[in-house]
Amino acid sequence: MLEKAPQFGEIGAGLQLAPNASHALASLGVLDAIAPYAVYPRRLLWRDARSGARVTALDLGERFRAHFGHPYVVMHRGDLLDVLLAAARAEPRIVLEVTREVVDVLEDDRGVRAVCADGTTFAGSAIVAADGLWSRLRTLVHDDGEPIPAQYVAYRGTIPVAELWEGAGLEDVTLWTAPGLHFVQYPIRGGMLFNQVAVFRSDRFRADGDDWGLPDELDAHFAVGCEAVQAGIARIRRDRRWTMYDREPIAQWSRGRMALLGDAAHPMLQYLAQGACQALEDAVVLADALAAYDDPADAFVAYRDRRYLRTARVQYSARLFGEIWHCGDVGATLRDAMLAPRADDDFAHVEWLYGWRRSG
Ligand SMILES: Cc1cc2nc3c(=O)[nH]c(=O)nc-3n(C[C@H](O)[C@H](O)[C@H](O)COP(=O)(O)OP(=O)(O)OC[C@H]3O[C@@H](n4cnc5c(N)ncnc54)[C@H](O)[C@@H]3O)c2cc1C
Repeated sequence: MLEKAPQFGEIGAGLQLAPNASHALASLGVLDAIAPYAVYPRRLLWRDARSGARVTALDLGERFRAHFGHPYVVMHRGDLLDVLLAAARAEPRIVLEVTREVVDVLEDDRGVRAVCADGTTFAGSAIVAADGLWSRLRTLVHDDGEPIPAQYVAYRGTIPVAELWEGAGLEDVTLWTAPGLHFVQYPIRGGMLFNQVAVFRSDRFRADGDDWGLPDELDAHFAVGCEAVQAGIARIRRDRRWTMYDREPIAQWSRGRMALLGDAAHPMLQYLAQGACQALEDAVVLADALAAYDDPADAFVAYRDRRYLRTARVQYSARLFGEIWHCGDVGATLRDAMLAPRADDDFAHVEWLYGWRRSG
């Protein structure tokens, strides 16, 4: 495993892992190992960011868990990485290398050779490119230019639970929405930290500039928020921001003995909280395909066949959810009216997403 950073690390923020990801983690043998760090929220609660009124909710309790066979988990990204790294280190066939930025992949009849920026090369029978949204290796498989900017920007960070204000929702994943913005809050690290993500559409967006989505815009956009939203926004970190991108789905995921995985294959907007979940599903399906075929090139085609329509559906659905969350006027009134009669334990609309099975 070749990582370009000087050490394995993750940003200080949370991650939602729906039952499809829990199932993937169970398949990888690490679901029990995340338990000490995991939080199992009571429900996904959607509220209007301006009035505070409830829009709808999804129960994540016993019935949900029994229905999907695995829990909905929220946790710190660094904790998940630590668990995955420990499992990788315990496997003697895995060698972990840092400060190895792969800049090219050469292929011949016998296998592949990864060429790193520092001049080192690594030979193998095949290579999986899991190099994220800005994947350099994707261009060798399918060059469709730069990721597509969504004009939205995210601020995120964590707060020790001991420093929380009264009324902060510690049992739920809470989603607050208003036209052009949303705000997500949930506890992580076994309930010790409170994670927050504030997202808004910048009016100053420029595709060729970096001077948009700045903290003054964050404050201006969230000034419409109710008291509970204002309390959270006041405590969100402003020293770093993440601009939102995705890509159109593609059908070509491999070239010979090189395949794409995760955001390198199917970057998506985060509105369904599924980017990492889909990467975990990829990993399980890819491992099964490699075990089933002698030739890695054949395994990569089988892996693609099992994955690409599902991830395309998630990519498109994430965009649609963004539209639904961020709409205003009649659209928002219609949305709320349509969602009002929904029962909290009606899982029909998430069945296709959360009900994924390794052998499905
Ligand atoms: C605000 C926000 C909230 C999100 N929330 C969720 C959520 O709740 N649930 C969820 O499932 N997903 C969520 N996501 C999406 C999720 O973060 C990504 O989909 C996921 O991190 C993708 O994992 P990856 O391994 O494919 O890529 P990355 O996490 O980007 O990892 C790529 C790795 O490759 C390394 N690398 C890059 N180039 C090279 C190279 N040339 N050579 C060697 N190494 C290289 C990088 O250093 C990095 O370590 C969210 C995203 C955002 C922006």
